[in-house]
Amino acid sequence: MSALVTNPHVLAAAQYVPEWIGVDRTRFICLDRNECTQPMSNTVSAALVQQVTKGVNLYPDDTLAYAPLAEYCGVPESFLLATNGSDQAIDLVMRCFLGPGDRLLLAMPGFSVFKLVAELTGATLQEVPFVGDQLEFPYEDFSAALASRPRAIVFINPNNPTGTPVDLAYIEQTAADHPDLPVIVDEAYFEFTGSTVAPLIATHRNIIVLRTFSKAFAMAGLRFGYVIAAPEIIKQLAKIRNPFDVNSLAVTAAIAQLQAIDEVRRYVDETMQSVKPDVVRFLTDRGLTFVDGAANFLLVRPRNSAAAVRHLGDAGVLVRSMSQPPLNGTFRVSMGTRDEMDRFRDVFDEYLKAGL
Ligand code: PMP
Repeated sequence: MSALVTNPHVLAAAQYVPEWIGVDRTRFICLDRNECTQPMSNTVSAALVQQVTKGVNLYPDDTLAYAPLAEYCGVPESFLLATNGSDQAIDLVMRCFLGPGDRLLLAMPGFSVFKLVAELTGATLQEVPFVGDQLEFPYEDFSAALASRPRAIVFINPNNPTGTPVDLAYIEQTAADHPDLPVIVDEAYFEFTGSTVAPLIATHRNIIVLRTFSKAFAMAGLRFGYVIAAPEIIKQLAKIRNPFDVNSLAVTAAIAQLQAIDEVRRYVDETMQSVKPDVVRFLTDRGLTFVDGAANFLLVRPRNSAAAVRHLGDAGVLVRSMSQPPLNGTFRVSMGTRDEMDRFRDVFDEYLKAGL
């Protein structure tokens, strides 16, 4: 049967299978995928209802979102390409820059889709491990690895699943020192840090930024992401993307949320200045080991992570069990609403007090 499929890269590939697939996650408190769990904005739901009422019989036009997106990003519209979530943005850049025998340099553990898609092109990953207990970015080792001339490099800033931020001056210097090297910067969690290299693209045209509306914009289910890059790169990426990959409901919702950007800012401020610090305080008070990254999630290392994850899950609270070394024995918890995090704390505390 497998003789029908002969592409060796497909045959060798692993499938990305999300946890809790087939489970109705709406019945749970979902702190396992770094989503925004707040109720949908009234502005966005009104725009969606209007769009559905008009119909979805016509093909979508993602360029309608480019004017407000350009204003939000502070770049000209010609620097933008909308994608079906930033997973597709990753797919486009991997397929654009990589081929059989190429190497992609990336600090690990990083977001797994890069590895999956890079390997589908026939490229291999050159992995540099994060360093220390707090999993800091491996600046020295990364610079040393650059000397071996990889075909492209990726910075995930801040990284998922470690939350590690990357120094912008280091990214800029790397891009300046290697003008022929594609410097891909995944900024899926940009809104939570405000730290971006997007303004540098005007002077360093080898920087390519990938972003998403799945996190701070609460639109993971609609699939809207985008690439910010110099127009000459955008033109090439646009050839790989199919013309109607970004659906009309995603376009409508993206425009509506950009027009109500203060809602996103309020959510981010609340999450980063109040909700997350409360969880950090709780973990510190309980003497737990954890990595306090720059994004809307934390990595926790309890005595028995599998048992803790099970206890939380049984009580209806989903967190993400990490298996990739050196993160085995940790779970990642995303910041939900204040009430959801109260529930997380109560259930986790129950577990800790039981001394399991
Ligand atoms: N990049 C990073 C670093 C992520 O964590 C994620 C989602 N977990 C993505 C990209 C993909 O997000 P989406 O496809 O939903 O835009």
